[in-house]
Amino acid sequence: MYTSVPRVVIVGAGFSGLWAAQGLAHEDLDITLLDRNNFHTFYPLLYQVAAAELGPTDIAYPVRSILREGRVRFRMADVQRIDFDARVVYSNEGEHPYDVLLLAMGSVPAFFGVEGAEEYSYPLRDMDHALPLRREVLSRFEKASFEPDAARREAHLTFVIVGGGPTGVEYAGALAELIHGPLLKDYPIIPRDEVRILLVEGSDRLLGAMHPRLGRYALERLRARRVEVELNTMVTRIRPDGVDFADGISVQTDTVVWTAGIQGDPRVGVWGLETGGLGRVVVEPSLQVPGRPEVFVAGDLARAVGDDGEPLPQVAPVAMQQGKHLVTAIKAHLRGDPVPDFVYDDPGMLAVIGRNNAVAQVFGGRFTGFAAWVLWALIHVAKLVGFRNRMLVLVNWAWNYVFYERSVRLILPVDRNGPGGELDLGGGGGAAERVAAAGAEGGPAPVDEGRGKAGAEGGSADAVIRDGAAVGGAEAGGAAGRRPEDGQA
Ligand SMILES: Cc1cc2nc3c(=O)[nH]c(=O)nc-3n(C[C@H](O)[C@H](O)[C@H](O)COP(=O)(O)OP(=O)(O)OC[C@H]3O[C@@H](n4cnc5c(N)ncnc54)[C@H](O)[C@@H]3O)c2cc1C
Repeated sequence: MYTSVPRVVIVGAGFSGLWAAQGLAHEDLDITLLDRNNFHTFYPLLYQVAAAELGPTDIAYPVRSILREGRVRFRMADVQRIDFDARVVYSNEGEHPYDVLLLAMGSVPAFFGVEGAEEYSYPLRDMDHALPLRREVLSRFEKASFEPDAARREAHLTFVIVGGGPTGVEYAGALAELIHGPLLKDYPIIPRDEVRILLVEGSDRLLGAMHPRLGRYALERLRARRVEVELNTMVTRIRPDGVDFADGISVQTDTVVWTAGIQGDPRVGVWGLETGGLGRVVVEPSLQVPGRPEVFVAGDLARAVGDDGEPLPQVAPVAMQQGKHLVTAIKAHLRGDPVPDFVYDDPGMLAVIGRNNAVAQVFGGRFTGFAAWVLWALIHVAKLVGFRNRMLVLVNWAWNYVFYERSVRLILPVDRNGPGGELDLGGGGGAAERVAAAGAEGGPAPVDEGRGKAGAEGGSADAVIRDGAAVGGAEAGGAAGRRPEDGQA
């Protein structure tokens, strides 16, 4: 079929793209893997980076090291456009012609048109988000510790998390442990009762895609950790210094964390592919784009449908299994053989609430507490890429567990003195001040790095319902009070 070695271009070194690249690495193919980062990120533990529990190097691994053996050529490049007719990918590093293309670009935050969400909240989708959020939390305590004005102190010490899916639940639990453990020991001047962690969820329960009993367990354990949980609560507006809810109530805060939704990169639709709910690309059961058999889409970006006719959840097991499937599928396509359909083998769902507490829906049963927590920890360590990362995570966890400490809570010089310089700790306001500081310095405020970078457009409130969500809750939605998108396994 091909007169020369077929050129395969893979966009995205996440779970699906990397797994496919590794599987094809020893084939007689000219493979180029593109990613805007030179590292692969283990997203299920990203919230721990934002909660100063793990460092970024614990959960990320250089792609070039992973692909040392084999024939995959890696380019650190940000894909900006694709011409599907000419079969060329355009990135900031040039042009990449292909015979077969795999799009595995993951997802970006979805703000559902909630006013101010993109500008003033911290999403938690990428490393670009986790590090500024960690810095934000740590620096709010520095500011609060010498803030004489009670109202300003309240805004510094109030943390609102929007979305009661797994990421919201996991981050709320981890933040509570960080604050009520080491941070308040570091700042004895701050009374415990002045700190508020508020988790808001639009539906009537947490972890909506799991069994209601597990959601109730998560609620109870979070409340025991001093997290205020508000169900049936919709966010209508996020301001530089607060959040407004649909029931007319407002909360003064400098820090809003957005875990309420994700979507496919909206540019993919602009480039000409048909997208379904939340910007996911419509694919055949084989993961090929209808009418373009040379284009495959996998992972969060693909709107593949399961046995029940519902879109598959945007979770790591789907992406990994699709990545493996694509090895066979791409080879079949190149031979001119029929391309097999992808069949998902659902391993179940897990979410962690904090020390000794998790929920698990696996092996046909439902588990809570210590057993679920151990299972969660074992599975996550086993899935990490690289022996070193597994060891680092285990050592960090053991340290945190034994000493009730957090070893990575540094506000680094680059945080204080980077472009924008808004982290001078001389007091002052919230996001508006940060944005103003950035403008004054002629550069982006470090605190805002990554925010809005994804270019999420926001959709209708209905779009809050993430199709086929595995854990985050597949029902309800509304203005935004949940993160139904992220599942666990
Ligand atoms: C905070 C968080 C927690 C999660 N927790 C869990 C969990 O506990 N369990 C679970 O099963 N799932 C979890 N998930 C979901 C899981 O991580 C995703 O479903 C999975 O990573 C999707 O894999 P993917 O291959 O589609 O994309 P990703 O793994 O997201 O990788 C996409 C890659 O594409 C690159 N990329 C994107 N755009 C471009 C571009 N324009 N140019 C070049 N490169 C680009 C990115 O840099 C990235 O490396 C979580 C996700 C998040 C964000």
